[in-house]
Formats: sequence, C-alpha cells, structure tokens
Amino acid sequence: MILFVHRKDLRVTDMPAFAYIARTGLPSLHLFILDPAILNAERARAHSGLRFLGLLARLQSLYRHHGQTLNLVCGTPEEIVPQIALVHEATEVVFHRDNTPYARHRDTSIHETLHRLGIPLTTISDQPLADPEELHRYAGRQSPYKVFTPFYRKWSEFVHTYFQPPVTTRLADLRTLVLDESIRQRYAPPYSLERFRGDVRLEAPEERLERFIADKLPDYAQRRDSYADDATSGLSGYINSGSLSVRTVCGKLLGEPDFEPWRRQLAWRDFYLYQSVFDPLFFEYEHYYDLSGLGDRHFEAWRKGRTGIPIVDAAMTQLNETGSMPNRLRMVTAMFLTKNLLAPFTLGEQTFRMMLTDADNVLNRGGWLWSASLGYDAAPYFRIMNPVTQSETWDPSGEYIRRWLPGQRGLSDRDVHRPLPHAVVDLKASRARAIEVYKRLIAEARARIGVPDGQPGSGDSADE
Ligand SMILES: Cc1cc2nc3c(=O)[nH]c(=O)nc-3n(C[C@H](O)[C@H](O)[C@H](O)COP(=O)(O)OP(=O)(O)OC[C@H]3O[C@@H](n4cnc5c(N)ncnc54)[C@H](O)[C@@H]3O)c2cc1C
Repeated sequence: MILFVHRKDLRVTDMPAFAYIARTGLPSLHLFILDPAILNAERARAHSGLRFLGLLARLQSLYRHHGQTLNLVCGTPEEIVPQIALVHEATEVVFHRDNTPYARHRDTSIHETLHRLGIPLTTISDQPLADPEELHRYAGRQSPYKVFTPFYRKWSEFVHTYFQPPVTTRLADLRTLVLDESIRQRYAPPYSLERFRGDVRLEAPEERLERFIADKLPDYAQRRDSYADDATSGLSGYINSGSLSVRTVCGKLLGEPDFEPWRRQLAWRDFYLYQSVFDPLFFEYEHYYDLSGLGDRHFEAWRKGRTGIPIVDAAMTQLNETGSMPNRLRMVTAMFLTKNLLAPFTLGEQTFRMMLTDADNVLNRGGWLWSASLGYDAAPYFRIMNPVTQSETWDPSGEYIRRWLPGQRGLSDRDVHRPLPHAVVDLKASRARAIEVYKRLIAEARARIGVPDGQPGSGDSADE
C-alpha cells in the first residue's frame, strides 16, 4: 500500500498524487496531520487558522461524500509518517512538494528516516503553474531570474508550451484504507473539525471561480486596484490551501480573451515560489540586513488600526475584523510600517501570517520583502507610497475608509483621506527619514557582506 499525506492540497480533484497512486494499482492510506508547530492554539483562533481548518473540514466532507476515508491525526509528522508507514507496511510514501524552510526541514527528516527503513519517498510538484526547477532547466540559464519581467516572458512561454491540464483521476478511482485503531487513538486530534466547518460549501472554490470569470474578469485590468469595489477574484485563500488547484483555474480560463492581466498575477505567485527555491537569502534577509536599528514604537498602533492615517487604519480594521485586505492596501500598510514607522518587516509579516485568511509563508514574505525594498526586484528604497495620495487615487470618494472607519463617515470626500491631528507620524518627515535609514542599511550590508547575488550592484546582468 501507499501512504499519502495531504498538506497544502485540501481538495480531491486535479491531484497529481492521486494519478500517481492510481497508476500503481495499489490501495492507499490518506492522512492529514494536524501539526502543533503549524496549527497551534493561537493560530487556530486567528483568521488564518480558522480558514485553514474550515477548508480541512471541507476536505473531510469531500472524502465522506465520495465514500472514502481521510485519516486525521495530530502530532509531529517526522514521528507519525515513518511509524504509520511501518505499521501498515507501506511500500512507498507520497506527498506534494512544499518549499518553506519548515517544510524542507520536516521533509528532509522524514526522507532520512524512511530511507533508513528502506521505504521510498516520492514528492510531486503541485503548487506552482511552472515548477521552478523545470522552468530553470527550460530557460537554460546559469543563474536564476531575479527580475519579474524577463521571468514572466519565459514563464509565459513555458506555461503555454507545457501547460498540464488538470489530472482526471478521481478519488473514487482509489481504494483508501482505514488507519490502524491503536495508532488512531494514540494520535487522536484534541478537537473535532465540526466546529470549524462554518459555512464553507463543498463547491465554494469552483463557484467563486465561475462567478469571477462571469462577473469580474472582463474589467479586471482596469478595476483591480479600485479596492472599494472588490473587483478581484478573492481566490487566494483557496489557491494557497490547495482547495483549488492553479491548473484548474488556468484550464477554465484558456479560452477567455481577458485572461492575460489576471494570469500575470498568477505569474507573480510563481515568481515568489521560484524565489523560495532559488534565492538562498529569501528566508534569510533579516540576517543579511542589520535591522536592529529599527523599532516597534508604533507597531501596536499600526496593528490595531490606530495610526491616525485613515487608509492605513481602515485597511488594518478590515484585516482584524475579516482576515482580508486588498493587494494595494497590503502594499500601502506594509510600506507604511516598514518605512514611515521604521519597524522591521518581520513584525508586519508575522501579523499578516496570523491574520490573513489567505496567509501563505512564501507569498507573504515576498510581499513584505517587496514593500521593504529588500530581496529580488523589490520596490526601490526611495520610492515610498504616500498613503494619502494612494487613497485619493484609488478610492477618490473615500467609500472604503467610511466602510471600515465609521468615525470618518461625516467628512467630505476631500477630508476623509487626510491624516488625523493625532497621527503617529508626519508623512513627509518620516518619508525623508526612511529614505536615509534604508539607504544606509542597504549600503552597510553590502559593505559588510557584499551585494546579494543578482541585486543591483552585484554585476549580474543576466536578466534579459
Ligand atoms: C505585504 C503583502 C503580503 C501578502 N501576503 C500574501 C499572502 O499571505 N497570501 C497570498 O496569497 N497573497 C499575499 N499577497 C499578495 C496579494 O496581495 C494577494 O494574493 C491578493 O490580494 C489576493 O487577492 P485575490 O485572490 O482577489 O487576487 P487576484 O487579484 O484575483 O489575483 C489572482 C491570484 O494571483 C495571485 N496574486 C495576486 N497578486 C499577487 C501578488 N502581489 N503576489 C503574489 N501573488 C499574487 C494570488 O494567488 C491571487 O489569488 C501579499 C501582498 C503583499 C503586498
């Protein structure tokens, strides 16, 4: 039998691993491990954990719906996977690949133990549209892409040529097994998923995709930044948890004429997944740059939406209340925290990781690095978004601010964007200070350690 472990693939359609298992003709035992290192009590109460557990409950229902078994256990994957593989005499362990440092460390350890036991491990690419390593081989470059535009050009070519349509193997084609009772009892989860089920319907991801294509896709390019209108897909939470595969998304869109601007966003997703594999500093920039001179003086005001800058406070209020925030406002709030408030990006990253319903360690880090002007193809340190100007440009009537900050409702369309008298910083002065600080911070790191490979000044001009 084959042991299959679900992770960021909370679905039963377009599962490359299912196709692989079906080809072996063997029965399979399907597992989800509630790992306390990821789903601790704090996260299970926050938007990010609640959404993930809701989607996991949906996965469990899908298995039941198809008359199959998803075995749910709680504990350390490094301990549980080899043990179950041994007890059930697995001939192979299979899972989809994941590239965060935690996942890499966990999977290396599982691999080593299985290797000692003589049980092969097979990992299959699932998360990106273009697998980073395959794309790298296809591009035939010595060094990886560091700039988005040339990456996007090659990525488009690759995806056009090698697009893998969704896998057609169904869960019903497999013979799933039930976990040994003593193991099940030993690793029984401390809670039932029932209370997380909420109102996530089984068809929710696909329905949302269909609605987006019908209602919003035609105007996406023009309206995506008009955040008061909610003009984007809202699919990121489904895509990141794997409740909806990117291949299913692209397969549905192939004949759509207005597809390209939206697909470009999916390319950004792949660009960050690619960086997580090829940029050795991607998860290390806080050690490369000396951030110790930055501080947390106004961090709590930012987190609670009490900075006195209306658009920042409105966006943080939406995040705290709902777990959502539009992309443009993620950039605005992230730049405001890292630049105007001079806080280390890691503080904001941790907040978003906990609070966003679509929290994803790779994309979240990518967004924070971009906003903090650190990492590949990031915003230049001297280009700092002015939150008031952003608000006036993208939501001239201030509808979004009024929606989230009732206290601002009575103000004119002009005044609604203005900083309040008690604002924690002066925008102009704090911008000038941020430019000085980041200029020094970047120069110091480069003088101390050298320019990170592929960044301006590294002498790497292989991007075109
Ligand atoms: C500081 C910061 C933190 C972020 N943290 C996350 C995060 O934890 N999880 C997450 O999914 N996205 C994150 N993003 C990216 C982006 O904000 C969201 O993907 C987007 O807002 C999701 O809304 P949507 O599904 O309606 O997107 P759409 O506009 O409909 O885009 C379609 C899909 O493309 C991808 N995408 C869109 N914009 C980006 C982008 N800028 N970077 C990478 N992929 C993108 C997503 O998968 C998204 O679902 C972050 C951005 C910033 C600036």
